[in-house]
Amino acid sequence: MTERYDVVVIGAGPAGYTAAIRAAQLGFKTACVDDWRNSAGAAALGGTCLNAGCIPSKALLESSDLYALARDHGAQRGLKFAGLSLDLAAMMAHKDKVVSDVTLGIATLFKANGVTWITGRGRLLPKNRVEISGGEAGGIEAVHVILASGSTPVSLKSAPFDGQRIVDSQDALAFQEVPRRLGVIGAGIIGLELGSVWRRLGAEVLLLEAQEGFLPVADERIAREALKQFSAQGLDIRLGARVLESRVKNGAVAVRYQDQNGEREEIVDRLIVAVGRRPNTDGLFAAETGLLLDEWGFVHVDEHCRTNLPNVYAVGDVVRGPMLAHKGMEEGVMVAERLAGRATAVDYDLVPSVIYTDPEIAWVGKTEQALKHAGESCRTGVFPFAANGRAKAMGAASGFIKILADARTDRVRGVHLIGPHCSELVAAAALAMSFGASNEDIMLTMFAHPTLSEALHEAALAVAGQAIHFAQPKRTRS
Ligand code: FAD
Ligand code: NAD
Repeated sequence: MTERYDVVVIGAGPAGYTAAIRAAQLGFKTACVDDWRNSAGAAALGGTCLNAGCIPSKALLESSDLYALARDHGAQRGLKFAGLSLDLAAMMAHKDKVVSDVTLGIATLFKANGVTWITGRGRLLPKNRVEISGGEAGGIEAVHVILASGSTPVSLKSAPFDGQRIVDSQDALAFQEVPRRLGVIGAGIIGLELGSVWRRLGAEVLLLEAQEGFLPVADERIAREALKQFSAQGLDIRLGARVLESRVKNGAVAVRYQDQNGEREEIVDRLIVAVGRRPNTDGLFAAETGLLLDEWGFVHVDEHCRTNLPNVYAVGDVVRGPMLAHKGMEEGVMVAERLAGRATAVDYDLVPSVIYTDPEIAWVGKTEQALKHAGESCRTGVFPFAANGRAKAMGAASGFIKILADARTDRVRGVHLIGPHCSELVAAAALAMSFGASNEDIMLTMFAHPTLSEALHEAALAVAGQAIHFAQPKRTRS
């Protein structure tokens, strides 16, 4: 007999597992179908994020940061290491343990909340039937189906993956030795994070970026500062570089590319292709369902993640919007709660973005260029970490926080950060903005001393020309 559920979720990444847990909390009989297999061939929950994305990359970023800190700045801070050396196998084992802990954690949460975990590949059929293959093969039915199949790396004809020398981000999280020379196609978020990991561990890193501008998604002033600091760290970022061909030869990769200086070739030991990700819809649904995709291949949804089919929803990377775990999780919660009759919504204007490099880059809200483009005028306040006592004590006094406030209403429109622990600091900005804070609200809030968060306070004061710990040009009294 076909098992019948209230809710079936296809995909157990952050969007899918969150939707499943919240649906079960709300009393729905819920199953989650997922086909992820880890390197040992075992089924694992958590999708890209926990197995091959956010979590393993952050484990390597943290470990490589510690290593580089000890090597490059230990002595200056009074820490002498006799014969400091890298044990890459141990670093990878730590990362694998973190991944195993967090993925097992989701299995525990499924159990605790009564979510049925079905291993295998799910395919949506008409009338909300879901065919399962490749694991616990069979069929199930649901009142509501939530598609959360995530995304996969974009491949390039000019640099086809071979899993050894020319690799995607997943393989680049598991190199068994530090490449002497590493090439990365794409100086976007993955390129910068993974480029940083391997640079810190000793590789020469060359990033080939097709666009002329660096990090166009970030505020321009932040992007300029980031490019300066990354270049100083030895990341060789070449902009306007169009890769023509990559050939594996004698255990190395010859990459031929064209930029404004003409055609050039570089030899690297490994080449990471990190040029974006595409929605994972292959085999996800039968054509007879009539499920609509948008022009970019994402499952078409409205602002509440409803597809064109009754009782079928889609969340996370497989739908429009930034490909970020927290965006998918909020969508998962929204859909589950709307099934229970609640009016939950996601505020897509307030999705925080973070790049976990050193310095960290983070933002929430609009960039200055976007506001200008929209003809909206704003007042700007900038405060440098060089004037923040805690950042100085940490030996991390570079970068700044920039606040954009509406010139007429004083409403905070965007907060942009580059510097230490900005991934954490951006939460305060997101909280303020989600409460509709004015810049004055931040000015009137007391921040503990000495903390990095004081830089947020001072940036708000700077909007009004009142920063205390940084000399701004004098204003005349009116
Ligand atoms: P996914 O996590 O991709 O999960 C989808 C799941 O569905 C997978 O398990 C897949 O195997 C399964 N699946 C697909 N099709 C089927 C099917 N037909 N049947 C059954 N199962 C199926 N985001 C951040 O917010 N912060 C970060 O720091 C961050 N770092 C990243 C680092 C890297 C290297 C990468 C690659 C990504 C990173 N991301 C980060 C992005 C983040 O991983 C994604 O936004 C997030 O995983 C999307 O979640 P999802 O649930 O939509 O899909
Ligand atoms: P991305 O969109 O961040 O960067 C891709 C870069 O590759 C862009 O700069 C693009 O101009 C460039 N590019 C595209 N085609 C090219 C070509 N042929 N040659 C050279 N350069 C080319 O994508 P990504 O870095 O692959 O990451 C994928 C997604 O994963 C991102 O959208 C991001 O949302 C998510 N992610 C998030 C985090 C985080 O939140 N910290 C970390 C990693 C990944």
